[in-house]
Amino acid sequence: MESLARFCENCGKSFTPHNYRQRYCDVNCRNKKYYNDNKERISEQKKKFREDNKEILKEQRKKYTKDNEEKIREYQKKYWKDNKERLKEYNKKYWEDNKERIKKQKKEYIENNKEKIREHNRRYYSENKQKLREYQKKYREDNKEKVREYHKKFREDNKERLKEYHKKYWEDNKEKIREYQRKYYHENKEKNNKN
Ligand SMILES: [Zn+2]
Repeated sequence: MESLARFCENCGKSFTPHNYRQRYCDVNCRNKKYYNDNKERISEQKKKFREDNKEILKEQRKKYTKDNEEKIREYQKKYWKDNKERLKEYNKKYWEDNKERIKKQKKEYIENNKEKIREHNRRYYSENKQKLREYQKKYREDNKEKVREYHKKFREDNKERLKEYHKKYWEDNKEKIREYQRKYYHENKEKNNKN
Protein backbone atom coordinates (compact mmCIF):
# COMPACT_ATOMS: atom_id res chain seq x y z
CA MET A 1 0.00 0.00 0.00
CA GLU A 2 2.94 2.24 0.72
CA SER A 3 3.64 2.58 -3.03
CA LEU A 4 0.28 4.27 -3.63
CA ALA A 5 1.53 7.49 -2.00
CA ARG A 6 1.87 10.46 -4.33
CA PHE A 7 3.04 14.04 -4.00
CA CYS A 8 0.39 16.75 -4.30
CA GLU A 9 0.95 18.73 -7.48
CA ASN A 10 0.13 21.91 -5.67
CA CYS A 11 1.74 21.82 -2.21
CA GLY A 12 4.15 18.89 -2.66
CA LYS A 13 2.85 17.08 0.44
CA SER A 14 2.72 13.30 0.24
CA PHE A 15 -0.80 11.80 0.24
CA THR A 16 -2.60 8.55 -0.49
CA PRO A 17 -4.97 8.92 -3.46
CA HIS A 18 -8.51 7.49 -3.42
CA ASN A 19 -8.37 6.83 -7.15
CA TYR A 20 -5.72 6.76 -9.84
CA ARG A 21 -6.61 10.21 -11.22
CA GLN A 22 -6.22 12.09 -7.95
CA ARG A 23 -3.31 14.53 -8.24
CA TYR A 24 -3.90 16.81 -5.27
CA CYS A 25 -3.98 16.13 -1.53
CA ASP A 26 -7.33 17.80 -1.01
CA VAL A 27 -9.99 19.91 -2.65
CA ASN A 28 -8.32 23.18 -1.57
CA CYS A 29 -5.13 22.28 -3.39
CA ARG A 30 -7.10 21.23 -6.46
CA ASN A 31 -8.93 24.56 -6.51
CA LYS A 32 -5.78 26.53 -5.86
CA LYS A 33 -3.92 24.78 -8.68
CA TYR A 34 -6.85 25.25 -11.01
CA TYR A 35 -6.99 28.92 -10.10
CA ASN A 36 -3.23 29.36 -10.59
CA ASP A 37 -3.26 27.59 -13.97
CA ASN A 38 -6.19 29.68 -15.14
CA LYS A 39 -5.48 32.94 -13.35
CA GLU A 40 -5.21 35.01 -16.53
CA ARG A 41 -8.34 33.56 -18.07
CA ILE A 42 -10.36 33.88 -14.83
CA SER A 43 -9.32 37.47 -14.28
CA GLU A 44 -10.17 38.25 -17.94
CA GLN A 45 -13.58 36.64 -17.42
CA LYS A 46 -14.16 38.60 -14.21
CA LYS A 47 -13.14 41.83 -15.90
CA LYS A 48 -15.42 41.16 -18.84
CA PHE A 49 -18.28 40.29 -16.48
CA ARG A 50 -17.78 43.55 -14.57
CA GLU A 51 -17.68 45.54 -17.79
CA ASP A 52 -20.71 43.83 -19.33
CA ASN A 53 -22.75 44.37 -16.17
CA LYS A 54 -21.39 47.70 -15.09
CA GLU A 55 -24.75 49.43 -14.75
CA ILE A 56 -26.46 46.54 -12.97
CA LEU A 57 -23.58 46.15 -10.54
CA LYS A 58 -23.56 49.86 -9.85
CA GLU A 59 -27.27 49.78 -9.11
CA GLN A 60 -26.77 46.76 -6.87
CA ARG A 61 -24.05 48.48 -4.91
CA LYS A 62 -26.15 51.59 -4.56
CA LYS A 63 -29.12 49.58 -3.38
CA TYR A 64 -26.98 47.63 -0.93
CA THR A 65 -25.48 50.81 0.50
CA LYS A 66 -28.89 52.36 0.84
CA ASP A 67 -30.51 49.28 2.41
CA ASN A 68 -27.66 48.81 4.87
CA GLU A 69 -26.88 52.40 5.71
CA GLU A 70 -27.18 51.87 9.45
CA LYS A 71 -25.17 48.64 9.38
CA ILE A 72 -22.38 50.15 7.28
CA ARG A 73 -22.17 53.19 9.53
CA GLU A 74 -21.99 50.97 12.60
CA TYR A 75 -19.34 48.85 10.94
CA GLN A 76 -17.24 51.88 9.98
CA LYS A 77 -17.59 53.32 13.45
CA LYS A 78 -16.47 50.05 15.03
CA TYR A 79 -13.65 49.65 12.54
CA TRP A 80 -12.42 53.15 13.24
CA LYS A 81 -12.64 52.60 16.99
CA ASP A 82 -10.77 49.28 16.84
CA ASN A 83 -8.03 50.66 14.61
CA LYS A 84 -7.93 54.28 15.68
CA GLU A 85 -4.27 54.48 16.59
CA ARG A 86 -3.15 52.57 13.53
CA LEU A 87 -5.35 54.60 11.18
CA LYS A 88 -4.29 57.88 12.73
CA GLU A 89 -0.67 56.88 12.36
CA TYR A 90 -1.31 55.77 8.79
CA ASN A 91 -3.15 58.97 7.85
CA LYS A 92 -0.43 61.09 9.36
CA LYS A 93 2.27 59.23 7.49
CA TYR A 94 0.27 59.31 4.27
CA TRP A 95 -0.20 63.06 4.62
CA GLU A 96 3.49 63.59 5.34
CA ASP A 97 4.55 61.47 2.35
CA ASN A 98 2.07 63.07 -0.06
CA LYS A 99 1.73 66.57 1.31
CA GLU A 100 3.07 68.37 -1.73
CA ARG A 101 1.06 66.30 -4.19
CA ILE A 102 -2.22 66.65 -2.23
CA LYS A 103 -1.77 70.39 -1.85
CA LYS A 104 -1.04 70.75 -5.54
CA GLN A 105 -4.03 68.59 -6.51
CA LYS A 106 -6.34 70.53 -4.23
CA LYS A 107 -5.15 73.83 -5.64
CA GLU A 108 -5.60 72.55 -9.19
CA TYR A 109 -9.05 71.23 -8.40
CA ILE A 110 -10.13 74.55 -6.94
CA GLU A 111 -8.58 76.38 -9.88
CA ASN A 112 -10.41 74.16 -12.41
CA ASN A 113 -13.75 74.03 -10.63
CA LYS A 114 -14.19 77.57 -9.41
CA GLU A 115 -17.67 77.96 -10.82
CA LYS A 116 -18.80 74.55 -9.55
CA ILE A 117 -17.50 75.20 -6.05
CA ARG A 118 -19.07 78.64 -5.94
CA GLU A 119 -22.37 77.15 -7.08
CA HIS A 120 -22.11 74.42 -4.44
CA ASN A 121 -21.33 76.92 -1.69
CA ARG A 122 -24.18 79.15 -2.78
CA ARG A 123 -26.62 76.26 -2.75
CA TYR A 124 -25.33 74.94 0.55
CA TYR A 125 -25.60 78.37 2.10
CA SER A 126 -29.11 79.01 0.86
CA GLU A 127 -30.31 75.55 1.93
CA ASN A 128 -28.81 75.91 5.39
CA LYS A 129 -29.13 79.63 5.91
CA GLN A 130 -31.25 79.43 9.03
CA LYS A 131 -29.16 76.69 10.56
CA LEU A 132 -25.89 78.48 9.82
CA ARG A 133 -27.15 81.74 11.26
CA GLU A 134 -28.27 80.03 14.43
CA TYR A 135 -24.98 78.22 14.68
CA GLN A 136 -22.99 81.45 14.24
CA LYS A 137 -25.15 83.26 16.74
CA LYS A 138 -24.71 80.52 19.29
CA TYR A 139 -20.98 80.42 18.62
CA ARG A 140 -20.68 84.18 19.13
CA GLU A 141 -22.65 84.00 22.34
CA ASP A 142 -20.67 81.08 23.70
CA ASN A 143 -17.35 82.63 22.74
CA LYS A 144 -17.97 86.32 23.25
CA GLU A 145 -14.58 87.05 24.74
CA LYS A 146 -12.76 84.99 22.12
CA VAL A 147 -14.63 86.62 19.22
CA ARG A 148 -13.93 90.08 20.59
CA GLU A 149 -10.24 89.24 20.95
CA TYR A 150 -10.19 87.83 17.47
CA HIS A 151 -11.73 90.95 15.90
CA LYS A 152 -9.42 93.20 17.84
CA LYS A 153 -6.40 91.21 16.77
CA PHE A 154 -7.62 91.14 13.18
CA ARG A 155 -8.01 94.92 13.13
CA GLU A 156 -4.56 95.38 14.59
CA ASP A 157 -2.90 92.89 12.26
CA ASN A 158 -4.57 94.38 9.21
CA LYS A 159 -4.53 98.05 10.04
CA GLU A 160 -2.80 99.11 6.85
CA ARG A 161 -4.84 96.80 4.67
CA LEU A 162 -8.11 97.97 6.18
CA LYS A 163 -7.11 101.56 5.73
CA GLU A 164 -6.32 100.83 2.08
CA TYR A 165 -9.61 99.00 1.75
CA HIS A 166 -11.67 101.84 3.19
CA LYS A 167 -9.84 104.34 1.06
CA LYS A 168 -10.45 102.27 -2.05
CA TYR A 169 -14.08 101.77 -1.11
CA TRP A 170 -14.49 105.48 -0.69
CA GLU A 171 -12.80 106.13 -4.07
CA ASP A 172 -14.93 103.55 -5.87
CA ASN A 173 -18.18 104.70 -4.32
CA LYS A 174 -17.62 108.39 -3.96
CA GLU A 175 -20.64 109.36 -6.03
CA LYS A 176 -22.90 106.88 -4.33
CA ILE A 177 -21.85 107.97 -0.87
CA ARG A 178 -22.23 111.66 -1.71
CA GLU A 179 -25.62 110.97 -3.20
CA TYR A 180 -26.65 109.14 -0.06
CA GLN A 181 -25.38 111.95 2.15
CA ARG A 182 -27.22 114.56 0.07
CA LYS A 183 -30.39 112.56 0.28
CA TYR A 184 -30.00 112.07 3.99
CA TYR A 185 -29.32 115.76 4.48
CA HIS A 186 -32.40 116.84 2.50
CA GLU A 187 -34.70 114.39 4.15
CA ASN A 188 -33.64 115.56 7.56
CA LYS A 189 -33.80 119.17 6.60
CA GLU A 190 -37.40 118.74 5.53
CA LYS A 191 -38.15 116.86 8.66
CA ASN A 192 -36.53 119.58 10.75
CA ASN A 193 -38.37 122.32 8.87
CA LYS A 194 -41.64 120.58 9.51
CA ASN A 195 -40.99 120.38 13.21
ZN1 LIG B 1 -1.69 19.67 -1.52
